[in-house]
Amino acid sequence: MGTDFRIVLYHPDSSLAKEAANEAFERVADLENIFSDYDENSEVSRLSDAGNGAVSDELWEVLEYSLDVSERSEGAFDVTVGALTKLWRKAFRQKEFPSENDIAAARTTVGYEAIKINKRSGQIEIKKEGMRLDFGAIAKGYAVDEAMEVLRDYGIYTALVDGGGDLLTGLAPPGQKGWEIEQPDKIVNGEPTYKKAWYANTAVATSGDTYRYLEHGGKRYSHIIDPRTGMGLTNRRIVTVTAPTCMAADAWATAASVGIKKLLTVDLREEGISIQIIEE
Ligand code: AMP
Ligand code: MG
Repeated sequence: MGTDFRIVLYHPDSSLAKEAANEAFERVADLENIFSDYDENSEVSRLSDAGNGAVSDELWEVLEYSLDVSERSEGAFDVTVGALTKLWRKAFRQKEFPSENDIAAARTTVGYEAIKINKRSGQIEIKKEGMRLDFGAIAKGYAVDEAMEVLRDYGIYTALVDGGGDLLTGLAPPGQKGWEIEQPDKIVNGEPTYKKAWYANTAVATSGDTYRYLEHGGKRYSHIIDPRTGMGLTNRRIVTVTAPTCMAADAWATAASVGIKKLLTVDLREEGISIQIIEE
């Protein structure tokens, strides 16, 4: 998933702890085989190629939640941005701004409404030519949740799973009030400052990192794309989301980076999701 996964856990039996951690890492590797859009043989790539088909329970679950977030964020979050991310990734690599024509062409393939999920038949259908799915904004969070699930199956509850900064905390370490996390606090002179925070039984995800961007005409374009314009974000915003699951935290952090209406955050609070946005 283009990142390192890290597991910290407490258990009196060290060989069981190792076995559990190994199995959790294996689970993450299996999920990478489903969700990677870099790997042309992943389930997601094959679904994008075929345009329809039955999918694994995992892909179904994440796609269903993705479409829910798309609807509620009015398209700010959209896993159908694959053609755009491909274009922008190439631009990042070559340090060359994408052409207006290429952006316009990629944009015609985007739009979550074109994905139909048929519960009865278990089939997914992509009703737009050239559409590519990209779960880069949510699959990491889901993998974190699933890795924690493996640990719980082993009876291990005092654990932290970290997927490149998107994390899920379990019970607090012995004698402590929670897991100590460094969290973006303010943006000063274009750089984030950090503060300490303590979490237990909570997921925390951050979006809008200031390191992955393309500079053009005095502006910084982020790897997060506004699906409605096809452009990399130029706002300098860092979003931190806490939620019961890392999948929710990951998805909403990306959605809020693009921008969602204020009203929506009220609904979210009832689901235990809280969004903190910092800007310079
Ligand atoms: P994150 O770091 O979780 O915010 O995810 C960013 C990644 O998600 C990007 O590198 C793209 O692969 C993908 N992506 C970019 N823009 C969007 C968007 N508006 N909605 C969903 N996924 C996106
Ligand atoms: Mg995300």
